[in-house]
Order: sequence, then C-alpha cells, then structure tokens
Amino acid sequence: MKIYSEQQQEIAEKISPTATKSNWTDWKWQLRHSISDLATVEKLLDIEFDPEKRKQYAKTMEIFPMSVTPYYLSLIDTEDYENDPVFKQAIPLPDELDIAVHDMKDPLSEDEDSPAPGITHRYPDRVLFHVSNTCSMYCRHCTRKRKVGDSDFVPCRDDLQAGLDYIRNTPQVRDVLLSGGDPFMLPDHQIDWLLGQLRSIEHVEVIRIGSRMPVVLPYRITDNLVSILKKHHPLWLNTHFNHPRELTQSSRKALAKLADAGIPLGNQTVLLAGVNDCPRLMKTLIHKLVQNRVRPYYLYQCDLSEGLTHFRTPVGKGIEIIESLIGHTSGFAVPTYVIDAPGGGGKIPVMPNYIVSWGTNKVILRNYEGVITTYTEPDCYQVTYCDRDCDNCNLTLKLSDAEEYRAIGIEKLLSDWDETCSLTPQDTERLERRDDNGDD
Ligand SMILES: *Cc1c(COP(=O)(O)O)cnc(C)c1O
Ligand code: SF4
Repeated sequence: MKIYSEQQQEIAEKISPTATKSNWTDWKWQLRHSISDLATVEKLLDIEFDPEKRKQYAKTMEIFPMSVTPYYLSLIDTEDYENDPVFKQAIPLPDELDIAVHDMKDPLSEDEDSPAPGITHRYPDRVLFHVSNTCSMYCRHCTRKRKVGDSDFVPCRDDLQAGLDYIRNTPQVRDVLLSGGDPFMLPDHQIDWLLGQLRSIEHVEVIRIGSRMPVVLPYRITDNLVSILKKHHPLWLNTHFNHPRELTQSSRKALAKLADAGIPLGNQTVLLAGVNDCPRLMKTLIHKLVQNRVRPYYLYQCDLSEGLTHFRTPVGKGIEIIESLIGHTSGFAVPTYVIDAPGGGGKIPVMPNYIVSWGTNKVILRNYEGVITTYTEPDCYQVTYCDRDCDNCNLTLKLSDAEEYRAIGIEKLLSDWDETCSLTPQDTERLERRDDNGDD
C-alpha cells in the first residue's frame, strides 16, 4: 500500500526496504527511526550539504542536538531546502550559535517560579505542569532549548507525584496546563493515570494539554489515545502549527479525530523570521486552521532564549500582521499577539491602536479601513458602587464563601473597595530617601 506521498514512500523504503504504510503511520516506528545525524538527513532527502556548511551544522548540533521524525522530514521541499520552513524548524543552523547580548538561558524565569518539581506557578489560578522532558522532535526555535536533549527521559509516576501533590494542596489552581517536552511522549496508560489523578482533584476545573504531535507526528493521535482523552473532559488542547504547509492530510486527520472527540482545539504560532513573518502567509495559516476546527489562540513574539537570534523579528512585524487580520477576516480566526515578559511577568498582549482620542463623553476610534468614527458615551450611566458585598448587590452574583478574591495590579487601582491609588516600584531612589529620612 502506498504511503501518502512519493517522498514519504522513498524515505520509508530507505529507512527499511520492507516498510509498509502501517509502519509509517505507527508513531512508535516513527520515533524509533527519528533522525539525529546529518548523513541520514542527506541520504533520506537525497541532498548533499556543502562540506563547509555540513561542518557548521555539526558544530551547532554539539550544543543544540537535532531530532526529527521521518514524517516531518518528509515535508521538506528538497528543490529549495535552504528556504524551506520545515527545514528551518528542524535542521540545526549555525546561526543558532550567535548569542546576542540580551539573550538568556531561561528568559521566562520558569525555574525561579517553580514551587515544586515540574510546576511553574506564575498566574493566580493556573499552573504549567511539565510532565515529560522529551519531544518527538526538537524544534529549532524552542524556548526551552537549554533543556531539550540533556535528559531525554519519560518520567514515571513517582516523578509526577510531587507536582500532583502541589496542585492538590493549592486550591486556587483551577486550570492545569500539561506541557513539556511533549505530554504525548508518555505512554497511553500513564496519560490516563495522570489525567485521572488531576480529575480527582476537586478544584481542578479545566485540564489543558500543549502538544506539537498533530504537527510533527500526527500518527500519535491514535484512536486509543483519543478515547482516553475523551474520558477526562473538560479537556482542551493547544497545538503549534507555524506554516500552512504543515497542514497535511495526516495532520488534518489527527485534528479531526481530536475535534470529533469534543476537544476544543487551539493553536499557538511562534512568529519566526524567514518562516512565517508575512501577513499573507499568516492569513493562509489561520484560515487553514479554522477550516480544521482549530482556533488560533496566540501568536508569540519569539523569546529571548539563547540560540534564537536569527528567528527574531521586530515587534512591528507582529503588529503589522495583526493589523492585516483584525476586520479583514473572521474575528475568531485572529490570534492574540503576545510577548512573554522576560523575567517571568507572563504574556503581555500587543495590538495596533484603535483608540485615536478621548474626550469627556466621546471616544474617537478608527477601524481597519481607516474610517475615523465617534462613539458617544452615556451621560446617564448608573454606577454600581462595589463594596464587595455581593450578597446585597443587585447584580445577583451568588458566590460560594470559598471564592475569596484579591485584586492584582491595575485591576486593583480601578476598584472602588481597595484604597490603593498607585503602584510604585520598591527600589527607587526617592523611596530610599524616604527611608533614610525616617531613620533620623
Ligand atoms: C502561558 C502560560 C500559562 C497559560 O496562560 P494562558 O494565558 O492562560 O493561556 C500558564 N502558566 C505559564 C507559566 C505560562 O507560560
Ligand atoms: S506575500 Fe510576499 S512575503 Fe509573503 S509569502 Fe508571498 S511573496 Fe513571500
């Protein structure tokens, strides 16, 4: 039986002369034959690297290793591989060794915000739980590059227990995001166990999984895996398509299985120079995603991790892309463009400006076509004064006693019931002077 494309057929036969379609679509076969050396890349793609370049690729691999599934490799257009978006995401380029002055090993301070092994607790009500530190392929633009490849192991139950204990003992966590590595590197029974454990925690309302499998190894989305996921609803899944070329027949099939199982699907794209930094390309990508029932969720500005300099675009490129989408296409197809704050501040949305000016009772706005318009604000608005006494408020919000609530940041400044009127950095000279005066 023929595999989907001629290139896939050839690659499969080179890996094993007796390879069949059911080998090719077996995710374990794909993993067993993952490619981690340049000679195999050349052999399978029938290309020959320039000797000088091969030396540079090899040098890069000593620091940032390579691993690619035969499936993902098979998407490379060998006619023009150096400009190929799949090649650029999979093969180590010497540019990765350029470390810029502002690059960091852990730009998002994930290690510092980790109260338990595998857990990053940054936001009030949700945690990131790293449940595997391996992936079916190493993306060249990975923000956790520093970790990839140094300890490729799939954790056992004991390794995951400390993270589960933290979640169980932290009642404010209502949303758990399983990440990695790739959580789908765990065997099915382990995934079932882990999801079951999380479901047994009453305060965990939603479970999310972040996985690139639908893109780089769609055969991992087996009927068995889907039937396990389905048992643990509400479960959401975010995947990571960066280029329209990645939406192949195989990946579309994987997405359909997940969507048919009632799993809401989202996508996070990383804005990458030379891969997808183009408004037209991005529009094609998001249209293909929504056709496959995947909602574009985030568009990420590339992080300041070491080895990503060559992938970074100016922020203006992202804003230009969003400008080309809002109003021009379906609202639900437009992702939120975010910068993940270096130092661990979390994701910050950035957008074109739509408010042109503001007077006492008028907002001046512009639309996507450049029309400038006026919205007149009400002059008879009855302010609902909020003293946090929800039981006696006419908005009839019936809360359980447990839902204690603390406002944070700008939200606090806007509130009626908190008297804070400014947020002030703690280490200014002015405040130090105040302290000094106090001591006299
Ligand atoms: C992205 C992220 C989340 C989830 O953020 P959402 O905006 O809710 O998708 C949670 N924790 C950490 C550490 C993250 O980086
Ligand atoms: S629109 Fe322009 S930049 Fe984008 S893919 Fe086409 S030619 Fe390239």
